Amino acid sequence: MYNRRKFIQTTALSAAAVALSKACTIKNSGVNKPIVIATWDFGVAANTDAWKILSKNGNALDAVENGVKVAEADVKNQTVGYGGRPDRDGIVTLDASIMDHNGNCGAVMALQNIKHPISVARLVMEKTPHVILAGDGALQFALEQGFKAENLLTNLSKKEWKEWLKTAKYSPVSNIENQSYQQAAPEKLPGNQYNHDTIGMLALDAHGNLAGACTTSGMAYKLHGRVGDSPVIGAGLYIDNEIGGATSTGVGEEVVRNVGSFLVVELMRQGYSPEEACKEAVMRIIKKKKDSAKNLQVGFLAINKNGDYGAYAIQEGFTFAVCDNQKQDLIVKGKSYY
Ligand code: ASP
Repeated sequence: MYNRRKFIQTTALSAAAVALSKACTIKNSGVNKPIVIATWDFGVAANTDAWKILSKNGNALDAVENGVKVAEADVKNQTVGYGGRPDRDGIVTLDASIMDHNGNCGAVMALQNIKHPISVARLVMEKTPHVILAGDGALQFALEQGFKAENLLTNLSKKEWKEWLKTAKYSPVSNIENQSYQQAAPEKLPGNQYNHDTIGMLALDAHGNLAGACTTSGMAYKLHGRVGDSPVIGAGLYIDNEIGGATSTGVGEEVVRNVGSFLVVELMRQGYSPEEACKEAVMRIIKKKKDSAKNLQVGFLAINKNGDYGAYAIQEGFTFAVCDNQKQDLIVKGKSYY
């Protein structure tokens, strides 16, 4: 179980270690930086690549883009990027968003055939006057920018989709991507056909700047054209460099309905800790959904300008990965309502 007091102690130690090492050229002010956090156990591998940039005083934006690309390229990860599960028509469509410390942001929705939607989202932010490109237009832009079109539907995901077609029942299951949770609670996983999860990553760099990235193949077997929370700025991702950042995973419709990540950041502005803010955002969903929240997973992850972090989910089983000067492969079990 996550022990907050222990965390505060380790954070203090970590700050001292940075000050002593003089490796960091930025004056240390008790802020835990650099640091990167990301959703789920698969966030560990993604954080490793982000850390290569952050530990060399690189910027948070480069770190989060490169970090989440690890999950996008991982064929074993069937909820993000290449190998992701398709929609009900057997088509893999990807959603992604990115946001920097100046409030710039970019996103792609329902993008097909491009392995790294996060990099397309970054170019939407940097090279167009727009924030979001969707569907065919996003693909056209990606191809113009030199991205290669490729088949993202792997044999495994295709086989599972064909199996799913026999019943064609759309019924999301919580936390299916979390390997340790799968092992611990196999009875909660009736088949492998209803998967969903996302990598949301938040980084605070050595310069004190925040950035975030969020990328997913969305809900498996969704209606063709369905877009979740991940590419919706303020829902799946939000950064305010004065305050902090937040990202989400879970049933995206509920996050969009509550503008979840923006809400978390605004609650931190009012003085909530990252975990308290995530909890309050989860409670808003539970309050509206009442009993049906029992069958729903939404998790929020947040960081503030001091490098304090926290998470909260509706269901047990949500984890996130942390990488800072203290520890590079920490997995924290997020607190939950149920
Ligand atoms: N939030 C994603 C979506 O709704 C799925 C997930 O993270 O579980 O597309």
